Amino acid sequence: MGFVGLNVLTTRRDPGRTSGSGSRCRRSSVVCSVSNVDSALVSKAGKADLKWDELGFAYVNTKCFVKCVYKDGQWGEMTIETDPYVKVHIGATALHYGQSCFEGMKAFTGKDGKVRLFRVDENAKRLQTSTERMVMPEVPSNMFIEACKLAVRENIEYAPPYGFGGSLYVRPLMFGSGARVGLQPADEYTFVVLVTPVGDYYKGGLSPVTAFVQTKYDRAAPQGIGNVKVGANYAADILPFQICKSKGYPINLYLHPKTGKTVEEFGTSNFIALKGDSYVTPDSPSVLPSITNKTLMHLASEMGMQVERRPVTVEEIADFDEVAACGTAVVITPVTRLVHNDEVIKLGNYDDQVGPRFNELYQNVRAIQNAEVEDRYGWTFDVME
Ligand SMILES: *Cc1c(COP(=O)(O)O)cnc(C)c1O
Repeated sequence: MGFVGLNVLTTRRDPGRTSGSGSRCRRSSVVCSVSNVDSALVSKAGKADLKWDELGFAYVNTKCFVKCVYKDGQWGEMTIETDPYVKVHIGATALHYGQSCFEGMKAFTGKDGKVRLFRVDENAKRLQTSTERMVMPEVPSNMFIEACKLAVRENIEYAPPYGFGGSLYVRPLMFGSGARVGLQPADEYTFVVLVTPVGDYYKGGLSPVTAFVQTKYDRAAPQGIGNVKVGANYAADILPFQICKSKGYPINLYLHPKTGKTVEEFGTSNFIALKGDSYVTPDSPSVLPSITNKTLMHLASEMGMQVERRPVTVEEIADFDEVAACGTAVVITPVTRLVHNDEVIKLGNYDDQVGPRFNELYQNVRAIQNAEVEDRYGWTFDVME
């Protein structure tokens, strides 16, 4: 499939910018060169007129988003759009059949004032597993990474400044925008990357939650699409999650859809637990491979823990030392109680408090994200480089 470079057409030009976007992204088959990005942009991080200490999780409109359309077997030019609407054909496969997938990651303003994306290369690879499963064209990793960096740079004012604990949430989305009536893949696709600033979930330290075990609904079939990040997974979770929240619980836990005996994952985050020297996480093929989980597994093994990816039974949950949910949104959510068939099960050894090792893992991840410690792993990507 053809990928004709990353030609950036700026529909709106910032008069203060000196880097000529024309010369910067006009070379075909060369990844968008950003060597001449205006370094003064770095100091623009956090300059938007927002109350950073009051920032929550509601969608905040930013300046623009990045868009690229795949048509006639190739990707077109990358454009910067200021109108937050896309015009879509009424026959688009995404609307009728859910031919749509997405990603989620964050950009952080570090201690040094630089803004970095966390593990965007992993999101690029994961989107490729989703597009393959949905019979959508591949977004090459370099195109994906450059599109994310571009979306952050163009909205750099909205990256919360260092010290507030917030971040710029980055949401790449790809959907079938071509019209089809019968069930088949579209002939046109739209890839967009939008960003929105989000606050610090744990202003006063990690706060544990009670999770609700879903026994009436399943999120993913054993050989379905649970392992890829597609809209349909979330569609299956909308009703169960509403029920869960109406009962007063902030997250729900799904069990194996066939047996109901082993743990799958929470609605939008992975299940992780600690027991003795072991870090345990379910290895089910219908679990979404969380990049946060991958990060934590790496750090846990560096801390001397044994990483076990294996079936986890519902009965065994009560015996773990620490239980948590993990995902990009909050990194780690300690789970200290579980409601299963009207029974409340107390979890962990720390009396409804976050356990010491999940707390340490959380602090380690946040320190790397905020460039407070050296990134020895190559996990952070300066959006200006
Ligand atoms: C995105 C997602 C996660 C978390 O993945 P991260 O890469 O850690 O954000 C977990 N479960 C589901 C179903 C997801 O869609």
